[in-house]
Amino acid sequence: MQSKHFINGQWTTPATTNTFATINPATEEVIAQIPAGNSDDINLAVEAARDAFDNGPWPKLSGAERAVYLQKMADIINRRLTELSKLEVLDNGKPYPEAEWDIEDTAGCFEYYANLAKELDNSSESSVELPEPRFTSKAIKEPVGVAGAIIPWNFPMLMAAWKVAPALAAGCTMVLKPSEITPLTAIALGEVAEEAGLPAGVLNIVTGLGQDAGQPLAQHPDVDKMAFTGSVPTGGKIMEMAAKQIKNISLELGGKSPLVIFEDADIEEAVEWIMFGIFWNQGQVCSATSRVLVAESLYPKLLECLISEAKKITIGEGNSDGVLLGPLVNKTQYEKVLAAIAKGAAEGAKIATGGKRAASFGKGYYIEPTVLTDMSEDSWIWQEEIFGPVVCVKPFKDEADAVRMANDSRFGLAAAVMSKDEQRCERVARAFRAGIVWVNCSQPTFVEAPWGGYKQSGIGRELGQWGLNNYLETKQITTFKSDEPWGWYIK
Ligand code: NAD
Repeated sequence: MQSKHFINGQWTTPATTNTFATINPATEEVIAQIPAGNSDDINLAVEAARDAFDNGPWPKLSGAERAVYLQKMADIINRRLTELSKLEVLDNGKPYPEAEWDIEDTAGCFEYYANLAKELDNSSESSVELPEPRFTSKAIKEPVGVAGAIIPWNFPMLMAAWKVAPALAAGCTMVLKPSEITPLTAIALGEVAEEAGLPAGVLNIVTGLGQDAGQPLAQHPDVDKMAFTGSVPTGGKIMEMAAKQIKNISLELGGKSPLVIFEDADIEEAVEWIMFGIFWNQGQVCSATSRVLVAESLYPKLLECLISEAKKITIGEGNSDGVLLGPLVNKTQYEKVLAAIAKGAAEGAKIATGGKRAASFGKGYYIEPTVLTDMSEDSWIWQEEIFGPVVCVKPFKDEADAVRMANDSRFGLAAAVMSKDEQRCERVARAFRAGIVWVNCSQPTFVEAPWGGYKQSGIGRELGQWGLNNYLETKQITTFKSDEPWGWYIK
């Protein structure tokens, strides 16, 4: 594993010898000391990305030519699947099958944008109809320029791919700053870029803390666009920094996503989707199913089934067989989640199951799968993102009540509905104020479909064609052609 930054195609000695530790959340042991990049490292990386964009081959290559590199990166990631998945387990704590799913999706994301890059050769120019016959006009798409990417720790390599793959496909160059909590697979992404022979400066990776490395990146005047995924408070700071330079931004932030379950839904299926929605990745998922709204008549039975299934979940170190719930990512997150549960209980929520450290572990940041009930609608625990294996469940009276409760949130990332009545599902899906809506399921995510939130959950969309558009500017080229002069001033 490299202990340098990946800048201008080279493993580059950091500006200082400062480091930070990345830990294994299952054992609390230090895995590695990682360079704590600062503004000097960021300046060097941005300079390389700027030069690669302004003077290098990358933006001038055809989409098909860029696709060859993206496909190579996908192939290398697939070849390193097991090793990268293990690295993700070590750094993040998630169960191995989940990590493997993430890394497969990471490769899939590079492959998908390789194909979109090829399509860009035919779709980047369109003619514009004008009412004036002396003018012709066309709209062309061009890369935005140098993009900066700052990502969180919950899906470390996948979150990098969601930004790097479309940016590179569009012809942008990039500086990536991974989360200081899980930097290992981002460093591996530098190795992947190196092996794929990506031209120097196209992808630069600087590790470091948010304040010391993220902030100089977001504030750098040579960065044309910032793509950020993380918390609402940091997203707000990125937006403020971007505002000073009128910088193009996209933000993928937090959520408190509801799942509405009507009385005709199958209880077992509903419980399966709730658990998939809140216990996957220890609930450290931006779109996690953290608020469950259940029709009054179904509520007692569903709750009983959910509690009984939650108690059966195998907790443990991510590489152990059969584990479905690993440790939380670090001590801070572990303490935050326990404090949130305590705060919810103090406000009057009932802990139906879980709510504490998983007792059988001497070390590691393990929290039991937790189900909370009986909180009020305006309570902190019902309204705020917890980012842990904690689900809040409430009954509702009727459809209008369910939609009102679901939409009563400052977030609008995802929402889900379950019912056998397709028309009702369609009605409710349209009534949700959220960017991602699931019907009769919760969480399945496809690289082809747009991803992003309403309200405080963010600005812009990632994935699919929308993700590519994040990194494209639109330019009009309008031509005057007439036998007669324009003749406004000079007759
Ligand atoms: P965070 O905001 O603490 O950190 C995210 C990144 O921002 C990290 O790389 C960090 O180093 C950097 N950062 C911190 N302060 C900074 C500053 N002042 N300037 C520049 N960069 C700075 O978030 P987190 O704890 O890593 O991630 C959890 C949050 O991310 C949750 O709220 C979750 O909902 C959200 N998230 C959203 C999505 C989505 O697609 N909407 C996906 C994953 C996570």
